[in-house]
Amino acid sequence: MAQLEEVEGIVLYHRRHRERDFLVKIFTKRFGKVMFFVRGSKKQQNELMQAIQPFSRATFIADIREGGLSFLRGSKDLETYRELQIDIFKNAYATYICALADAALEDKVTHIDMYYQVEHSLNLLNEEYDPEVVMNIIEIKFLRNFGVAPNFVACGVCGKSEGIFDFSDKYHGIICSEHFYEDLRRLHMNPKAMHLVRLYSVLKLDKIGDISIKPETQQEIKRLIEHIYEQSVGLKLKSKKFINNLHEWEDTLKKD
Ligand SMILES: [Zn+2]
Repeated sequence: MAQLEEVEGIVLYHRRHRERDFLVKIFTKRFGKVMFFVRGSKKQQNELMQAIQPFSRATFIADIREGGLSFLRGSKDLETYRELQIDIFKNAYATYICALADAALEDKVTHIDMYYQVEHSLNLLNEEYDPEVVMNIIEIKFLRNFGVAPNFVACGVCGKSEGIFDFSDKYHGIICSEHFYEDLRRLHMNPKAMHLVRLYSVLKLDKIGDISIKPETQQEIKRLIEHIYEQSVGLKLKSKKFINNLHEWEDTLKKD
């Protein structure tokens, strides 16, 4: 008989399998992402069904197998993010962050640092923190996991790390104002937005303080991140498009 483990984890998503069973993707602290099979037997339903809701955090009693599917037998110490379940905006951001984690990380590879970053991001969303800021920070953090690590530290030409910077695809990162002429197709970023992106690349979400950002600066940060995701990562998640749609719908409602 397989040995049961107690693993702490965050539910990224679940989907129904056949009539009563579920497939549940959990980001575990010790084993990384693992897909679990949950049999929807009546006995288990009350206890486990609660725990496999998206964004739940719990200690799962798990039978983790090397090859093939792993199984969930039970759970304890369940924590759910109520705000993320009931607020459509927060739910959309949390769904996207979980989808990003699923796309960026390999299954069954431990990513303890990103585990904590995802956990903190859900905490922050639940606590009314600006969801765009949380999303942008985590998007920048996941770039490394996609094998894309733009140089946000220093100018790609001279190595200078202070001053005004812009983003250059040619140099795969920032270039300083003295070397703007080296790339005529640089992004012409708002310097404040560029500064914040550099800050985001080194910031830990558990150490984040209040950040107040003007809408136009926010728009520029979004432009850069979407540019990098399109050009270098090549990822377009439906959950991200949904966030953009939500904002458009909201604007339409305001106009009427
Ligand atoms: Zn330079």
